[in-house]
Amino acid sequence: MSGSGIPTLLGAPFDAASSLQRGAAQAPAAIRTALRNPSSNSWTEDAVDVLAPGVFADAGDVPLANPDDGTAARIAIEGSVRAILASGGRPLVLGGDHSISYPVLRAVGARHQGLTVVHFDAHGDLYDEFEGDRYSHACPFSRVMEEGLARRLIQIGIRTLNRHQWEQAARFGAEVHEMRRWSGPFSIRVEGPVYISLDLDVLDPAFIAGIAHPEPGGLSVREVLTMIQRLEAPLVGADLVELNPANDLSPRSGLVAAKFLKELIAALVR
Ligand code: MN
Ligand code: MN
Repeated sequence: MSGSGIPTLLGAPFDAASSLQRGAAQAPAAIRTALRNPSSNSWTEDAVDVLAPGVFADAGDVPLANPDDGTAARIAIEGSVRAILASGGRPLVLGGDHSISYPVLRAVGARHQGLTVVHFDAHGDLYDEFEGDRYSHACPFSRVMEEGLARRLIQIGIRTLNRHQWEQAARFGAEVHEMRRWSGPFSIRVEGPVYISLDLDVLDPAFIAGIAHPEPGGLSVREVLTMIQRLEAPLVGADLVELNPANDLSPRSGLVAAKFLKELIAALVR
């Protein structure tokens, strides 16, 4: 299914680790539909036709027999990503809530030593536990860093850290680029393999309605696109999480997600 280096889409329709509102499980289907919405074409801004045969593969959705069983979901997601990596593909995972990044990175981190995770988010997602759940969507990067799945964690767009999360960021050596110091897109300097984790709530709510945790004071669609496009390090995988189609006012938020998906595919084939 996934040939050498080909970006391979995988849906992870799991949202039971959401602390506030379910609905992100509907995102993989919504993003796939938006990618083919005739209001736009299938070309990226640097002229890759992502819907041309062979540009990306689609492994479908991770089968989840019980949508509330987090343990089973994590095992299934990790296994599906390992299978993509074993066949030479580069996983591009559509969440789901942000908890899915931990099992994805268990697979990617095992495959790629010295991994750097570039994490776009309003939130640090660095809680040790959240409301009693160590696998909440508020916690994935604590699990990732505790297990040594990444060498560096670069967080961009952050604007919600409390004291506990600042302590966690210091504990893990996270490189936090806060919105309050934002002065425009910059080139991310990285050596070695890179993984992008893109939580759509990094965007200012002016740009997206279909998310569960709108946080004012965020990035524009253009700024995130520019950051992705300027990344020069080899991208070995990515995820796109936290689209909540139930909160969308029209398919517009899905189109934003699909735009990011196209540019992530372009970054993976670059
Ligand atoms: Mn997040
Ligand atoms: Mn977030």
